[in-house]
Amino acid sequence: MDLGIRGKRALVCASSKGLGRGCAEALAEAGVNLVMNARSEGPLQEAAEAIRARHGVEVTAIAADITTEAGRAQVLEAAGTLDILVTNAGGPPPGMWSDWDRDDFIRALDANMLTPIALMKACLPGMMERGWGRVVNITSQSVKSPIPVLGLSNSARAGLTGYVAGTSRQVAHSGVTINNMLPGIHATDRAISLDNGVAQSEGIALDEARARREATIPVRRYGTAAEFGAMCAFLCSQHAGFIVGQNILLDGGATNTTL
Ligand code: NAP
Repeated sequence: MDLGIRGKRALVCASSKGLGRGCAEALAEAGVNLVMNARSEGPLQEAAEAIRARHGVEVTAIAADITTEAGRAQVLEAAGTLDILVTNAGGPPPGMWSDWDRDDFIRALDANMLTPIALMKACLPGMMERGWGRVVNITSQSVKSPIPVLGLSNSARAGLTGYVAGTSRQVAHSGVTINNMLPGIHATDRAISLDNGVAQSEGIALDEARARREATIPVRRYGTAAEFGAMCAFLCSQHAGFIVGQNILLDGGATNTTL
């Protein structure tokens, strides 16, 4: 399928690895020029070079912490005019409800709620003026079904979801869509680090920790960044202009809900 977005320009935040990288690869495959971002310069430049070589698109790589005001300013200045925005950042650490204080919540809200909101606020006016835009926010399956040890994530992402529900409907008339993608367990560094935590706390091997989690997923495996990226590219395509304010779950059936 031709996604109809060849030559458009996308900012994909937090994209040197994992799900962000999957989105960057799939957009590049559709002919989209990219602005990629991550904090560590080396892996980011390697990812950018690999994408340029594989897909022949323009890639600008900006090493910066997207959760800081200075980092966002640096990325947005280099990005210039954008047609597509994919927001993403690392997730908050796991923990226990009784341990989190105000500062923990402020950090989580800054990273996983206020950062995507600030990026949307910066990009939406230009997209609306030009009459076309696509925004995809990477959130989590925890928006639909809470993961108790990720209470900081549950809270911050619920806030972002509420913001998108209203804002997406305010901007849709101008050809701009905003949707969220909700990953379940995907085979990325983040998933391996969570498996490592379980292995250590329960005194089991890493393979055993992974096998236990895979057994909880109806498809019996982790998702891949490529599968995730393909959905992102579709949501950013010309074909997705009637999809507004949705929360698309990609979890292999793990969240046991009817709707
Ligand atoms: P990952 O494999 O750890 O990759 C994270 C990417 O983001 C890396 O490129 C990292 O590069 C970059 N990054 C992290 N913090 C950043 C920041 N502050 N500024 C700029 N770049 C940053 O993680 P992932 O599994 O793809 O997860 C992506 C998001 O989806 C996270 O919010 C995670 O909580 C959420 N999620 C993931 C899963 C899963 O199973 N994988 C499930 C549910 C939700 P640098 O370290 O160099 O900055």
